[in-house]
Amino acid sequence: MLVIPCPLCGERPYTEFHYGGDASKRRPALGGAELRAWHDYLFLFDNPKGPHREYWQHHQGCRQWLLVVRNTATNEVGEVILARHAGTGAGAGPGAR
Ligand SMILES: [Zn+2]
Repeated sequence: MLVIPCPLCGERPYTEFHYGGDASKRRPALGGAELRAWHDYLFLFDNPKGPHREYWQHHQGCRQWLLVVRNTATNEVGEVILARHAGTGAGAGPGAR
């Protein structure tokens, strides 16, 4: 079973979390981006094999958004930090880049 070490709550099963998406994608600028950029952001996804940066929310715990590095081939979890500490600004999480 995938276990995610929440920085605030400790190790928890993935069933306590919601997957929030790919943390490596950059949201287009509000009001300045073309429709094609929004289409690509919303509907096109890579399917990488290996370490991948993802957002997860600990909805059954501290409710914080986390930035998790997970190996998609082995489900090994690497670095886990609070998304708000990831240098993406206050309220960081999916869509707040
Ligand atoms: Zn937590």
